[in-house]
Amino acid sequence: MSESKKVVVITGAAGFLGSHLCDRFIKEGYKVIGIDNLITGDLKNIEHLFKLEDFEFYNHDISLFINIPGRVDYILNFASPASPIDYLKIPIQTLKVGSLGVHNCLGLAKAKNARILVASTSEVYGDPEVHPQKETYWGHVNPVGPRGVYDEAKRFQEAITMAYHTFHGLEVRIARIFNTYGPRMRLNDGRVIPAFMGQALRGEDLTIFGDGTQTRSFCFVDDLIEGLYRLLLSDYTGPVNIGNPQEISLNEFAEEILKLTGKNVKVSYKPLPVDDPKQRQPDITLAREVLGWEPKVERAEGLQKTYEYFQTLSQEELYKEVR
Ligand code: NAD
Repeated sequence: MSESKKVVVITGAAGFLGSHLCDRFIKEGYKVIGIDNLITGDLKNIEHLFKLEDFEFYNHDISLFINIPGRVDYILNFASPASPIDYLKIPIQTLKVGSLGVHNCLGLAKAKNARILVASTSEVYGDPEVHPQKETYWGHVNPVGPRGVYDEAKRFQEAITMAYHTFHGLEVRIARIFNTYGPRMRLNDGRVIPAFMGQALRGEDLTIFGDGTQTRSFCFVDDLIEGLYRLLLSDYTGPVNIGNPQEISLNEFAEEILKLTGKNVKVSYKPLPVDDPKQRQPDITLAREVLGWEPKVERAEGLQKTYEYFQTLSQEELYKEVR
């Protein structure tokens, strides 16, 4: 490895977003150190990187002390269960990684004089009373509701990250990420795109909960990674929304997936669960202004790439139960 290469530490490296970040930073010529305890991630997502001289991997729980020898220029903290299916199953680990884990990452950043970007979420807005959400909206979260373990961990993360900036002068970046989709998503993570694609691939009807008029907005992963990359290298310290504001109803989604997959299956309707989230929609004016960023990938292209990925899964993976 050349000594002049910048070193980036990526936590949650074996996860959906973390693995794409690893790819991007390797492509940009950085040395990448990935950390993951594999609680929701999969080494399969990064196995293609193991042969590279500029990639190193630590199987480690970041809620425990982190020590990385040598130079570190940037840290991207992406370790955390991210889908409701995961964080409702492992609530304490979710709170720990969002508090102790973040604290350890900030400590590492301070020790190395590195800049840190933390992965926050649209969930900090909770069940919002304003649409779309701007960064200036403070949110509407129930701390003791089932989603509180994730939402409050992420809110704490933002607070402690800003405190390190204010009190220690640490260079920080906060990305408020909205729903993202793409290759390496888990088929059974409870989100509508993998759910529909998994059903189509298994030859099952696509299930819509409710009447399907509710809307969702999803950002393709390549767009998101570009936004994160620009944010890290920008000089903007406050939180920035990164997501795709374009909304689509579940009925339209189902139709697009049926057309894309060409499967002879139907759409079936089931009652709406009580905790079904009302849609959040990002206001990305700030990202446009300070990062010159907005999503570029058309949904047809993003869905096609995602479907191609799911088509490569084995029969066993296709039928694997939700963890
Ligand atoms: P993911 O579950 O695919 O990846 C998270 C990774 O973190 C996994 O590989 C997991 O094993 C690892 N991890 C969890 N706890 C850890 C710990 N204590 N120590 C080390 N590694 C640990 O989820 P994702 O979708 O890639 O999300 C990554 C980050 O982005 C999360 O912080 C999430 O909150 C945030 N985010 C994601 C989305 C989205 O749409 N995917 C939206 C908003 C925010």
